[in-house]
Amino acid sequence: MHFTELALNKPILKAIFEKNYDSPTEVQKQAIPLVLDKKDLIASAQTGTGKTAAFALPILQLLFHQQDATKKNKRIRALIVSPTRELAVQIEAEFKAYGKYTNLKTAVVFGGTSIEPQKDILKKGVDILIATPGRLLDLRKQEFINLDKVEILVLDEADLMLDMGFIDDVLKIDRMCPEDKQTLLFSATMPIKVIQLAKSILTDPERIEI
Ligand code: AMP
Repeated sequence: MHFTELALNKPILKAIFEKNYDSPTEVQKQAIPLVLDKKDLIASAQTGTGKTAAFALPILQLLFHQQDATKKNKRIRALIVSPTRELAVQIEAEFKAYGKYTNLKTAVVFGGTSIEPQKDILKKGVDILIATPGRLLDLRKQEFINLDKVEILVLDEADLMLDMGFIDDVLKIDRMCPEDKQTLLFSATMPIKVIQLAKSILTDPERIEI
């Protein structure tokens, strides 16, 4: 299978070609059509399987396709929640690389570092935000983040997120986003607590196991 068979627009395909990827990985083959079809998703996939592109590519496609030409009141349209700063930074780098020929704006916020530069970036308007849970809630409390227009929520490494004690934060973040958003949950392992989280926040999800 080739990336051109995945119904992605030219600007996104061009960025993929520049990465010299031969073909989509298994999780990409399975996830991309489902995400483009606006399904909720629960996917068990480890780091190294290409799982980041499995959600980043179709999210870029969905947002690019329905881009608001007026650009007024720019609000966050896709929110990716990651348990660690390192992972958040990696995810942002991938969104930036795959989205380089779209004019979608991506930013990352995480704790353990000065909050002021992050506020400045958010003030300029962001389409796609990657965030660790604590800093996200902090910035929202200070009204630098508005989640009212989130169309797609991704919970990455959900098992790790729960192990790190972020369950209440994750549930809070889910409730702050619109009810009819699309939600994608990725996890390396599927312990019962991840399944329970999925049951409580996903709507009629498709399941992928890699
Ligand atoms: P991840 O599982 O998202 O951490 O991705 C692992 C690595 O695989 C990243 O460095 C990606 O750049 C790379 N990658 C993602 N998709 C592909 C692909 N289709 N072919 C080759 N490498 C890929």
